[in-house]
Amino acid sequence: MKAMVLSKLSSLVKNRAPLEFADLPEPIPREDEILIKVSVCGVCHTELDEIEGRTPPPRFPVVLGHQVVGRVEAKGCRAGVFEVGERVGVGWIYSVCGECKFCRGENENLCPEFRATGRDANGGYAAYMTVPERFAYRIPTVFSDSEAAPLLCAGAIGYRSLRLTGLRDGQNLGLAGFGASAHLVLKMARHKYPNSRVFVFARSEKERSFARELGAVWAGASEEKSPEKLDAIIDTTPVWKPVVEALGNLESGGRLIINAIRKEEVDKDYLARLDYPAHLWREKEIKSVANVSRSDISEFLELAARVPIKPEVQEYPLEEANRALIELKEGKIRGAKVLRID
Ligand SMILES: [Zn+2]
Ligand SMILES: [Zn+2]
Repeated sequence: MKAMVLSKLSSLVKNRAPLEFADLPEPIPREDEILIKVSVCGVCHTELDEIEGRTPPPRFPVVLGHQVVGRVEAKGCRAGVFEVGERVGVGWIYSVCGECKFCRGENENLCPEFRATGRDANGGYAAYMTVPERFAYRIPTVFSDSEAAPLLCAGAIGYRSLRLTGLRDGQNLGLAGFGASAHLVLKMARHKYPNSRVFVFARSEKERSFARELGAVWAGASEEKSPEKLDAIIDTTPVWKPVVEALGNLESGGRLIINAIRKEEVDKDYLARLDYPAHLWREKEIKSVANVSRSDISEFLELAARVPIKPEVQEYPLEEANRALIELKEGKIRGAKVLRID
């Protein structure tokens, strides 16, 4: 089968083609697994963190990609949830232990044995993939394959981030960074909190005007002061400056949610500007988001279908995965990027 594989870690500044085209054997589903013929796979910022070694895959070569939409091609002998031919999706959560205190509670995303799709197991930058059927989801019919893919990570983790803000309707929400996840959070927030005003901080004027188009009341650069204090801010940037600046824009008792699996080191010295009275005092909180649970994905798919919340997508053929990744790295973004495989 055709696949784009990662064989070693590399810097995207030095190596603009980290993935190589390969012909791999088609995977065979184990007892509780399904084999999926992949239609499309979303491109996520986490792929950049994997390629550059901030969250490295445990072995190589590996097939990246964790926003997978396709159809069930075959099933293991004990897999009985889906029919052959049915459309399914896979997100970042590939498997968990199912027994630890986090799995028994409602926090399987924190399981120490959390395995991620496209990092700890082969993902969707390929013609086929296998997954335990418990970690696959039916895709509501209102979405095309390409529209559904970004919902599986960008959307689901955005849903988790928005939930963790503890926002109430009418309170001000800030979004630092305006990529695939944030543009879905804006759409979600306008539905869930119709009386809340959304303020967006983004690095390019293109992203800022896109945010205004989608209903942000204000959009500025990350170092700007927002015209009003913000009760919650979600940061989806890969760096530190927006974190410090966001804390300065936070209302007393407000909460900053950091939705990033890793932060880059490039501007870490900016943290030295952290001024306790300006940025943290008055009961401000910081909380990170880690992974997603199955219920984040299934609840979000249901909500997105009901509203409906559809992402803006840019499609690339699988063979051009490197170009999609470089454009993501360089901030050439409008909505979400998706690879077309079949
Ligand atoms: Zn992702
Ligand atoms: Zn567990």
